[in-house]
Amino acid sequence: MNETVRLTMASGVDETSACGRLTIDLAALVENYRRLSRRAAPTPVAAVVKADAYGLGAAEVVPVLHSAGCRDFFVAHFIEAVRLKPFLPGDARLYVLNGLMPGSEGACADLGAIPVLNSLDQAKAWSALALARGIELEAALQVDTGMARLGLSLPELQALATDPAGLAGIRLTLIMSHLACADQPDHAASPSQLAGMRTASALFPGIPVSFANSGGVFLGPEYRGDLARPGVALYGAAPTVAEENPMHPVVRLDVRVIQTRTVPAGTAVGYGGAYLTPRETRIATLAAGYADGLPRSLSNRGAAWFEGTRLPIIGRISMDSLMVDVTALAEDALAPGTLVEMIGPNQTLEAVAADADTISYEILTRLGQRYHRHYAYPSSREGGQGQS
Ligand SMILES: *Cc1c(COP(=O)(O)O)cnc(C)c1O
Repeated sequence: MNETVRLTMASGVDETSACGRLTIDLAALVENYRRLSRRAAPTPVAAVVKADAYGLGAAEVVPVLHSAGCRDFFVAHFIEAVRLKPFLPGDARLYVLNGLMPGSEGACADLGAIPVLNSLDQAKAWSALALARGIELEAALQVDTGMARLGLSLPELQALATDPAGLAGIRLTLIMSHLACADQPDHAASPSQLAGMRTASALFPGIPVSFANSGGVFLGPEYRGDLARPGVALYGAAPTVAEENPMHPVVRLDVRVIQTRTVPAGTAVGYGGAYLTPRETRIATLAAGYADGLPRSLSNRGAAWFEGTRLPIIGRISMDSLMVDVTALAEDALAPGTLVEMIGPNQTLEAVAADADTISYEILTRLGQRYHRHYAYPSSREGGQGQS
């Protein structure tokens, strides 16, 4: 159960009094996992669950994906591994993409998390710990094939391959790298990174390769390696810019109307008076703002939807509320408490991201903690697990 829901229940706040309803369709998540698995077959598919499973709740997402057959999970920071560990079934592996901060090696080993070693220093420290404890420690080794973010350079990897003492006490479970432009199917960077990945894996024969993120799964069989590593596509976002989105939507967000009013032409709306009504306008104030993950860049740009009608956002997004123009609706259409759609069948995640001048990843990972979260479980679990 998610922290927010626990708090909501503890304080006796029911769904109708929450500022909005965030519906997370875990059956669609499983469908997406299966779709990615079919696409990557015979390569098994891991799940990237960093940033609380892209804002959806790792404690809910991980057990459901495990039931669907997923055994490898990736977080970014060590603290995420610490928080996720209690929800992780015993036969699952948990990788830490950002690797080891100096001094965190012992805690990482105690937790049983597998670090992604991104530098010679990280490898050295992990090896030293293994030797000091007289045990073998697992690790993934990341090579930078052209993103200049994390990982050893190819020459560093070569040095390590020719002097295996540098990896004493370490059992490598993966050689991995990350694609910088996998969402653009024709981008020249991907084949170049693939060539680098092949050179790297040849240095460590027999060690499984992990390369493809969401976009990489759709680039072609040569990118899939031995363990695919998608994140965003699991959560329903489009894995590439070129294709129609092949994933099922997982997130639906509806927010509540607080109040409505009709104002004359020439009325300044919201902070800074950044919108002036051009005519008599009916305004609805909605109970979500930038503190709920609706970026301020949606000011005067985005929209909400109600029964097929687009309701343009007018004025600046406030911290806890925003205003929409509802002149197109019947005067009594939006009683206080009515839910209007922000993400859903009328307005995709990608559309909201485009209006906000950002990407679906950022919209997902900022989804607020003040909504009532409703988790819809796959049918095999229905009845067993609490529904919210
Ligand atoms: C975030 C991340 C992924 C997942 O990427 P998506 O584009 O969300 O599929 C995979 N590998 C690494 C190293 C990452 O940082």
